[in-house]
Amino acid sequence: MNPLKYIHSHFGAKLLLSYLVIIMVGVLVLMVSAELAVPRAFERHIASMGGMMGGSHMMGPLFNNFRAAVTEALSLAALAAFTAAVLVSLFVSQRVIAPVRAIRFASQRIAEGRYTERVGLPANLDQESLDELDQLALTFNQMAEKLEQTENIRKQLIGDVAHELRTPLTTIQGSMEGLIDGILPAEERTFQAILREAERLRRLVDDLQELSRVEAGSFELNKKPASIGGLIEETLKRMERQFLEKSVRLLKDVALDLPQVSVDADRIHQILINLLGNALQYTPSGGQVTVSARQAGMGIQIRVEDTGIGILPEHLPYLFDRFYRVDKSRSRAGGGSGIGLTITKHLVESHGGQIWAESPGPDQGSAFIFTLPISN
Ligand code: ADP
Repeated sequence: MNPLKYIHSHFGAKLLLSYLVIIMVGVLVLMVSAELAVPRAFERHIASMGGMMGGSHMMGPLFNNFRAAVTEALSLAALAAFTAAVLVSLFVSQRVIAPVRAIRFASQRIAEGRYTERVGLPANLDQESLDELDQLALTFNQMAEKLEQTENIRKQLIGDVAHELRTPLTTIQGSMEGLIDGILPAEERTFQAILREAERLRRLVDDLQELSRVEAGSFELNKKPASIGGLIEETLKRMERQFLEKSVRLLKDVALDLPQVSVDADRIHQILINLLGNALQYTPSGGQVTVSARQAGMGIQIRVEDTGIGILPEHLPYLFDRFYRVDKSRSRAGGGSGIGLTITKHLVESHGGQIWAESPGPDQGSAFIFTLPISN
């Protein structure tokens, strides 16, 4: 390879070259200044001895010998110093370049899709004693960690979505094949079943779209001061009929004189509809669902409580994860995609609130509670 090109494309070579230039300049300055200093040094230290050594005709050769001696000694010393300096520069530039090389290598591997790659760091990491290169390696590792997480989420999401889409699609395909082969009767019941699956697919796609919007944070909250009692009242009115049809009682218990909250009314309706929809779905006929609201510290706590099928404690922490369903077949039969609570959680958190679930156990009902900060 052309040496100029090599130096151009290698930081280590550039670093070494810069050291060499410094060494050369040092040696050059040493030689030139010694050369200039020689006559005066000779004058001061040797010339005075001229008389003793046999007169001024000796001065010329003596000076030449003196100069030769100085040049010889100096050249030898400069050579030794030069060699030592080059060796040290080689070592130092290797030390400086090693972490840069490690980061380059790791970034190449990440670019190839190996997200587990990390740069080695000193064992006893002390934030105070980190130099710029250590810090670069540290931030690089943090970036790699984030990339790995995002990649894992992406892979899992694609897997989940494919799995969720496959079930209704398989059912539709099976029914259509059955119709073509004449195994299934071409009657309303068959078409209704196909329609139900198509509707489920559409709902799933809508939910996914909404999920990606809330997860990316690409929705705007149109916050305005509102009374939470009023918002609950409106939602209950909208859902009254569905509860009536399933014979589940719908009750309201909202504390009087609650302070106003600054919220996006449509989003609060969406949260309440999701929670009430679930409560209705998982509560058998004859049961009861209560929506209550009260002040708790600096916020308002809203509780949607049902007397339904309840939830085992081990499921409670995962209910808000996407596609998590306690009983897949039961949830799916009711059109559930397992995304509703994930969307709800994002909406509550975008308002600065929190959401969680409680349940004493199976068949003992459950409660979903969320908070909203009081507007100042
Ligand atoms: P889905 O669309 O399946 O209802 P969600 O995200 O809304 O999805 O809920 C996730 C899971 O949480 C449900 O599949 C169900 O198992 C459980 N769940 C939600 N609400 C209730 C409830 N009120 N009672 C019992 N289980 C519930």
